[in-house]
Amino acid sequence: MDSPSSTIERLPAPKRPGGWSIPGWGLLQGLAVTGRNMVESYYKKERMTTIQYPEERAPISPNFRNFPFLVFDTDPAADLRCTACSICEKECPPQCIYIVLDRDENGKSLKRPRVFDIDLSVCMNCGICAEVCPFDSIYMDGEYELSTDDRFGGLLFGLDRLAKSAEYHMKLRPEQATEVMARRKAEEEKKAAAAAAKLAKAKADAEAKAKAAAEVKPEEKGEEV
Ligand code: SF4
Ligand code: SF4
Repeated sequence: MDSPSSTIERLPAPKRPGGWSIPGWGLLQGLAVTGRNMVESYYKKERMTTIQYPEERAPISPNFRNFPFLVFDTDPAADLRCTACSICEKECPPQCIYIVLDRDENGKSLKRPRVFDIDLSVCMNCGICAEVCPFDSIYMDGEYELSTDDRFGGLLFGLDRLAKSAEYHMKLRPEQATEVMARRKAEEEKKAAAAAAKLAKAKADAEAKAKAAAEVKPEEKGEEV
């Protein structure tokens, strides 16, 4: 995009005889840019930077990040991607993540969090949790309207507020989400192919065993002929 100051910046500083610059020429250039921006802000759309918030909202930058959120594929209760591995909890610099692993009645890990809390009043928006997660489960959100008069409870987000759909992730960060979805799909296909190969081998082994058993002569089985 053309800079409004481009034409002004191209103007060579007038020289006095003898090569002296006019004192204050840079200041005059600056004032000209400011004046031009002010005048253009009344009629040029790209210069009208003021919007009627909250009725209007400016689009956020693709790299804008605020607080983390957790991703589920279709159902927050059934397929939250988080496995409660606690890596993000350990790596979070201000230690504002709190996770409790969910277990069945025998104490076996269900590989999902029973509790996943983030204290947003402490979070410093560093994004380290999103960087270290090996399960594509936690990403930085673009939500910024989180003000509350409840300084403590109102900013302690649990699973109910942290869990957001993969569709939301796709809308928020299409490039990142597309890459993640493609990788996850390739991994799933690889796993499915390995499982199918294992099943086919087990089936072939069972058939070979059954065939070998059928070929054993009755006398070898100890039966009367
Ligand atoms: S963004 Fe940083 S401070 Fe906030 S929860 Fe993640 S690791 Fe912790
Ligand atoms: S968000 Fe990722 S790193 Fe954190 S506990 Fe869940 S799976 Fe582990």
